[in-house]
Amino acid sequence: MKNIKHSWAEPYKIKMVELLKMTSPAQRKKAMKEAGYNTFLLKSEDVYIDLLTDSGTSAMSDRQWAGMMMGDEAYAGSRNFYNLEKVVQEIYGYKYLIPTHQGRGAENILSKILIKKGDIIPGNMYFTTTRLHQELAGGKFEDIIIDEAHDPENECAFKGNVDLDKLERLIKKYGAEKIPYVSIATSVNMAGGQPISMKNLKELRALTKKHKIRVIHDMTRVAENAYFIQQREKGYANKPIKAIVKEINSYTDGATMSAKKDALVNIGGFLAVNDWDVFEEARNMVVVYEGLHTYGGLAGRDMEAMAIGILESVGDDHIKARVGQVIYLGEKMMDYGVPIVKPIGGHGIFVDAKKFLPHINQDQFPAQTLAAEIYLDAGVRTMERGVVSAGRKANGENYYPKLELVRFTIPRRVYTQAHMDVIAESTARVYERRNSIKGMKMIYEPKYLRFFQARFEKL
Ligand SMILES: *Cc1c(COP(=O)(O)O)cnc(C)c1O
Repeated sequence: MKNIKHSWAEPYKIKMVELLKMTSPAQRKKAMKEAGYNTFLLKSEDVYIDLLTDSGTSAMSDRQWAGMMMGDEAYAGSRNFYNLEKVVQEIYGYKYLIPTHQGRGAENILSKILIKKGDIIPGNMYFTTTRLHQELAGGKFEDIIIDEAHDPENECAFKGNVDLDKLERLIKKYGAEKIPYVSIATSVNMAGGQPISMKNLKELRALTKKHKIRVIHDMTRVAENAYFIQQREKGYANKPIKAIVKEINSYTDGATMSAKKDALVNIGGFLAVNDWDVFEEARNMVVVYEGLHTYGGLAGRDMEAMAIGILESVGDDHIKARVGQVIYLGEKMMDYGVPIVKPIGGHGIFVDAKKFLPHINQDQFPAQTLAAEIYLDAGVRTMERGVVSAGRKANGENYYPKLELVRFTIPRRVYTQAHMDVIAESTARVYERRNSIKGMKMIYEPKYLRFFQARFEKL
């Protein structure tokens, strides 16, 4: 009996299904060409399994839908705002809440309040919208993640950790007064959903306290990070996810949140802070960019769904099944020999396009090319996280990130294990014919966040 494994399984059953359109290879070829070989420009209707993002794509529970019916659509002081505020305080531990339409709304407000021209914002790897708002506010982002994070083969358990020596060097070079805050993400998206350890957070807290520098937490995937702490860090095996999430947050001064990820809603986000002065300013500013401070660009029903989603997101059974499904897919890919970022992260599988297509150099967009090829095979939509996503520096030069990845992001509670099999098999087929794949050139490039709308042609 000893060898029978304990599989993860979903702590829910399916009540309603959404029918999908199946496409032929000829239809997919036409659709991809029309989309300029950018998976962001495909019509969702032409996609079979949509792994473009885990953002806003979760399946809500019956409780969340019931909560939607309890929306209090008052302009000011909606009941749902107070429910959300209570949940944010209880579950996340931050004092003051400013709802925003999504994560970048919170980033905009926070960056404008805390960053002055010429400031330096160190962080554990950049995120597209986060860095852009820091730059638009006059700051400069500096990457202080550990070197291991840039190596897809390195199996370090906490690749999201901050290299405290790098941070100290920055403080020495620029002075603490030039650093308004350290920007810390849990489950570092661009590194492949890699967690930061509690030990590292504690040490970061001690160092920043010494220099009176704030720590701002991008808590978009904090529950997934908490799961890895529970599984991998000494002393946390028996702690519930809820307690771990709260402890993580206790080492930070405030947070921006895209509730479209961990918190299981289709739209929503917030800024949460402990500092009254920052809250005051944010409450003033939210009226300019989002809406009144008790709705921040959201309907009352959206805030209710978010409040319930946050409670569900920190359930131990939920998060075990969520990450379990991602690991199932990753292991299947590895069985087929597909090169992926290791260890497997929390919200998706990141395929190493440099390794997959070593004959295509970075100026010919290997990850963009691979994402297009994967769609053509079976209608699976993924996205590029490489040189296109990295964009250009202020002086117009391209950023050339070390990681050139294709992201297979798994929506929460949406797809089945059979879908995971189809994805792995399709990727393996593309891998088999990898030598015949050619790169691309960019024929249209938008100024900001170019990966969303850029167009390409096959070479
Ligand atoms: C999605 C995301 C954001 C931005 O949030 P939006 O809701 O898309 O505006 C910020 N940080 C991280 C890590 C994210 O994944």
